[in-house]
Amino acid sequence: MPDLPFLGRVALVTGGSRGIGRACVERLARLGADVAINYHSQAAAAQETADAVRQLGRRALALPADVSDAAQVEQLLAQITADLGPIDLLVNNAGVFDYAPHTELTPAVWQRTLDVNLTGAFQVTWGVKDSMIARRFGRIVNIASISALQPRPMSIAYAASKAGLVAFTRSIAAAFAPHNIRVNAVAPGLIETEIIDGVSQTAIDTIVANTPVGRIGQPDEVAGTVQFLLSEDSSFTTGQTLVVCGGRVMVP
Ligand code: NAP
Repeated sequence: MPDLPFLGRVALVTGGSRGIGRACVERLARLGADVAINYHSQAAAAQETADAVRQLGRRALALPADVSDAAQVEQLLAQITADLGPIDLLVNNAGVFDYAPHTELTPAVWQRTLDVNLTGAFQVTWGVKDSMIARRFGRIVNIASISALQPRPMSIAYAASKAGLVAFTRSIAAAFAPHNIRVNAVAPGLIETEIIDGVSQTAIDTIVANTPVGRIGQPDEVAGTVQFLLSEDSSFTTGQTLVVCGGRVMVP
């Protein structure tokens, strides 16, 4: 009998259709959770991910919603609650990435990046927190980035949004702790997903040269840390940001 620590739990992974989010979805399902997969526009990828969950014997829902849109988030959460039940495990993973010099950073790109990466996590969290408080159980993981910890002259809005997410994580971890809700963040380094398609090979080679393990990471290597933070193996851990980057950044 496999160990199923998330059996009977309902999980939501925002941006769960592809990349790191999909790896988190599959881990959660393998470990027993029923999973709602939120996506923005790639319906086929989301359906494929949902099929993978069903093949593991778990319930799955693939639902479109722009996490930056309050009304769409409200509808998303209502449908998950009606179809799967209240959400126990939340991974705020949906994100967009800007990669351009400061001369090309427009107010529109700044606003969109903050809206999706930071306000999106706020809106989804605010939509689930009251139910978690009422049921005295919740585990939340926010996917930040090492760009929250280092200067990023080519990703100014992105780095600001992720630093905001780290601060948000700390503050709500303290606010929610009395209700048995733990909140942590994961800060990945460079991970092989479509989000880095715009990054040049030269830039990737430089990053790899500055990474002690000598390679970029895979989505499932982030999902492993997410699994730890959602599970009771991390029962005394809240408000933390765990860095998953092959040693490129070492804290403290
Ligand atoms: P990805 O493969 O591009 O996946 C992005 C996911 O976010 C997709 O599922 C996408 O949905 C969804 N999404 C985008 N905008 C959305 C919106 N407005 N509302 C709802 N969903 C939205 O990228 P990834 O690398 O897996 O990124 C996942 C997270 O990891 C992001 O927060 C990213 O910042 C973070 N991260 C990535 C890296 C890296 O090197 N890859 C490093 C550090 C942190 P669709 O499929 O519908 O487009």
